[in-house]
Amino acid sequence: MTGGEETRAQDTRAQGTAAEVAAEAPGAGMRPQDLRADCASCFALCCVALPFARSADFAVDKDAGRPCHNLQDDFRCGIHRHLRDEGFPGCTVYDCFGAGQKVSQVTFGGHDWRSEPGTAGRMFAVFPVVRHLHELLWYLTEALTLPGAAPVREEVLRARDEIDALTRLGPEELTGLDVAEWRGRVNPLLLRVSELVRAPARAGGQGGRDRKKDRRGADLIGARLRGADLYGADLRGAYLIGADLRGADLRLADLIGADLRGADLSGADLTGSVFLTQPQLNAARGDAATRIPPGLTRPAHWSATESAPARSTGRDAQPRGRGRGGRQDAPAGRRGGRPKGRGRDEK
Ligand code: SF4
Repeated sequence: MTGGEETRAQDTRAQGTAAEVAAEAPGAGMRPQDLRADCASCFALCCVALPFARSADFAVDKDAGRPCHNLQDDFRCGIHRHLRDEGFPGCTVYDCFGAGQKVSQVTFGGHDWRSEPGTAGRMFAVFPVVRHLHELLWYLTEALTLPGAAPVREEVLRARDEIDALTRLGPEELTGLDVAEWRGRVNPLLLRVSELVRAPARAGGQGGRDRKKDRRGADLIGARLRGADLYGADLRGAYLIGADLRGADLRLADLIGADLRGADLSGADLTGSVFLTQPQLNAARGDAATRIPPGLTRPAHWSATESAPARSTGRDAQPRGRGRGGRQDAPAGRRGGRPKGRGRDEK
């Protein structure tokens, strides 16, 4: 094993999961399940509060604040087992990072919008705010699992506790919260974490920096990246919609806010990738050979078999994009920090 390979192996082995660390870090008071959606403890807020538009992701239009026609009286989805077949794949992509149960059980103390309609407006306004905060908590909690981020661990802990405290504010305070400002405060810290963690990979590039792997915010829509060496790449906020990433090496790649809708990750290696979330995986395609980081779940709609072995293109990150360029990365990856697979814009 070479020194570089050993470092990569350590990067992967040393990682716990964000959910595990949520329970271990001192002073946090968080439980592992707090950053995962618990639909049984939520009043189906994502099925009511958020709008969606008729598209490949949703069979119908729905306004914000109006219950989806598939929502049952018991807050369960009437087509849960057949969402993709019924034209609602967007619902299988979305994840609230545990914001739904926080708002339902903590912010509103278990009082639901059906039996207390007077709370509905405030509840639906608070939900996207807490969802953004919980997403930040996910990133910060993951940062605590990364050995390379040890130099900034105390800063990360402070930021996480600060954001966690915000999620426990009352409805009025939450509604008035400037989420963008908080994202702006946290983002430099997440950037620092990313640089520290990816330092071994970055040092291997020309002049200490591999320009071909610096693809922050890049337009890589439909890019042919089969078998590409993207080890340690900066793909923050990159547009990888429909990209062919079969067999790509994405270990230690920073994928915060990267749009992976429809990207083919069959056979790709994502172990040790930084700031990858479940909604991003859900929005992509993959197979049994796709290697994913601990703490994330292999989406049920991915192929259960392995595709043909990946073939290297011999080129790194050569985009076949539409040449749209000029799009900007946003704090914490992209505004909203998540793939827009559900077609909902939370404001
Ligand atoms: S179809 Fe989607 S939005 Fe509608 S109830 Fe089911 S999960 Fe909720």
